[in-house]
Amino acid sequence: MKNGRGRVVLVAGGAGFIGSHLCDALVSEGAHVICVDNFRTGRRQNLFPLRHDSRFEFIEADVIDPLKPSLLSSRVPIDAVFNLACAASPAHYQAEPEHTMLTNVLGTRNLLALAQKKRARFLLASTSEVYGDPDVHPQTESYWGNVNPTGPRACYDEGKRAAEALTFDYRRAGRVSVRVARIFNTYGPRMRADDGRVVSNVITQALSGKDITVYGHGSQTRSFCYVADLVDGLMRLMDYDGEASGPVNLGNPIELTVNELVARVLAMTGSRSRVVNRPLPIDDPRRRRPDISLANELLGWSPRVALDEGLEATITWFAGEGAKVPAGVKATGRAKGLGGAAAGLAVS
Ligand code: NAD
Ligand code: UDP
Repeated sequence: MKNGRGRVVLVAGGAGFIGSHLCDALVSEGAHVICVDNFRTGRRQNLFPLRHDSRFEFIEADVIDPLKPSLLSSRVPIDAVFNLACAASPAHYQAEPEHTMLTNVLGTRNLLALAQKKRARFLLASTSEVYGDPDVHPQTESYWGNVNPTGPRACYDEGKRAAEALTFDYRRAGRVSVRVARIFNTYGPRMRADDGRVVSNVITQALSGKDITVYGHGSQTRSFCYVADLVDGLMRLMDYDGEASGPVNLGNPIELTVNELVARVLAMTGSRSRVVNRPLPIDDPRRRRPDISLANELLGWSPRVALDEGLEATITWFAGEGAKVPAGVKATGRAKGLGGAAAGLAVS
């Protein structure tokens, strides 16, 4: 992080998949990190590499609740607040829709108020889901989206849209210097095997020889970004000193169908799993691909990790995490671009 040495950075949702990699990267660049998480979908083991680091502290709390007085104390300086708190997997955020919505609205408000009090920068981890099932392709930040406001995904999609609105209201009122990242599908080590997302499902199914579940015909597309690239983009956006007047897409523009993803994972693992088709979930977006011109122009950012490299690192990690690997299935490669203790993290 630019000028990171000595900076105090709060990461809400820091025990999660992306948040824990962000905490690692911030600490390794010299920041002091305060991680806030309620372990709803995050895991203690994600924080193992940092557990003895004096530059890292953890507060178990739900951001929906009023923040701890210790955090609000004027003796605790905070220079930057990353708000990543919110389940990202459809299965998890739909399991507790009210909590998802309140996390986005009340949690974001609490963290914005904290940033205002501390005169800290604030970054919201928003999502490509604000584009819903898009009529504009690829998705540019100027597209307002096509979201079902009452469907099962609404707690997340509309929650994030409300969080964005609140964030820009704080900016308009001159209360906080804000940034909003619209994150597209991200994958890598530390995804939960049980989170129901396509990358984790397909890899764990391939490694264990179980049927690969393709929802619908598998012709829907997504664009998958490796987590190290995404974390780099988030840090650049937080460090950006200019005026980004709106949200910034962060994702890998290489688009593929679910069937193409499955074929790659089967080839890379040598798995003989069968592909079975299951019903397409309600409101499942048909296609998704970021236009990242703005991130490229403002931040000089574009993803560097090729899909095969990222998948190899992720497959290796899932194989090491305890997935049952039948004889003949390959599990090679190293966790790419995660550096230090995070690379190939052994989980207990
Ligand atoms: P994750 O579920 O692994 O991490 C979310 C973290 O937030 C977890 O540690 C969870 O315990 C914590 N959390 C949830 N609600 C909380 C609350 N009320 N109070 C405190 N902590 C809470 O998900 P992720 O994939 O790491 O996603 C991180 C952020 O990025 C999320 O805000 C998500 O919406 C956004 N995002 C992720 C993706 C992706 O593909 N992973 C895509 C778009 C946006
Ligand atoms: N998907 C699938 N099989 C699975 C899990 C997901 O075919 O086992 C599909 C899902 O319907 C969607 C795509 O893969 O079209 C991406 O799903 P994911 O949950 O990973 O992300 P999101 O829908 O939030 O983009």
